[in-house]
Amino acid sequence: MKLVLASGNPGKLKEFSALLADSGFEVVPQVSLGVDDAEETGLSFVENALLKARHAARASGLPALADDSGLCVDHLGGAPGLYSARYSGNHGDAAANNAKLLRALEGVPDAQRSAFFICVLVLLRHAEDPAPLIAEGRWHGHVLHASRGMQGFGYDPLFLPQGQTLSAAELDPVLKNTLSHRALALARLHALLSAS
Ligand code: IMP
Repeated sequence: MKLVLASGNPGKLKEFSALLADSGFEVVPQVSLGVDDAEETGLSFVENALLKARHAARASGLPALADDSGLCVDHLGGAPGLYSARYSGNHGDAAANNAKLLRALEGVPDAQRSAFFICVLVLLRHAEDPAPLIAEGRWHGHVLHASRGMQGFGYDPLFLPQGQTLSAAELDPVLKNTLSHRALALARLHALLSAS
């Protein structure tokens, strides 16, 4: 059975296809079905993931999977949060986003630089599904005082995961993919699918 993925990101398509291979789902990106992006008007990650999944399910008539993720910094009341991709104003400008985050935390001591990455996955069997599968993963750590490392993407160079001496951008990507918020959420979704 086909399952529409409410994202055009090729990395996510690969990851989700592997996750769902043994669940009998063939994952197809929404763009290949002519489905446009949903408006992300929610006030939380789970609301936005639900909006995206529902939009994709409604437009395609297929089951749909959506994710929403970002970085939440405790000292900043959870910012950049929902606006992680466009914190600096330009969508996807990681260098500008990281520079803004460093400015926002200027002079803030280590003890108050705690943060977590969060990923929420929502799977709807159809657009009116009243009982979506919802899986969340959180990766806790601290925001560094300067960028470190070249791997990964987004805020990885500024994120020191709990229990690690390397930033998320210095970690072997294979290791990152076993520790991250996305890995945790994927594992939980897998467990939910196996139990359903
Ligand atoms: P999206 O849910 O893929 O749109 O991600 C939203 C934004 O959150 C990204 O553009 C990044 O800024 C940030 N983000 C999410 N996951 C990660 C990660 O694993 N590392 C670094 N930044 C991330």
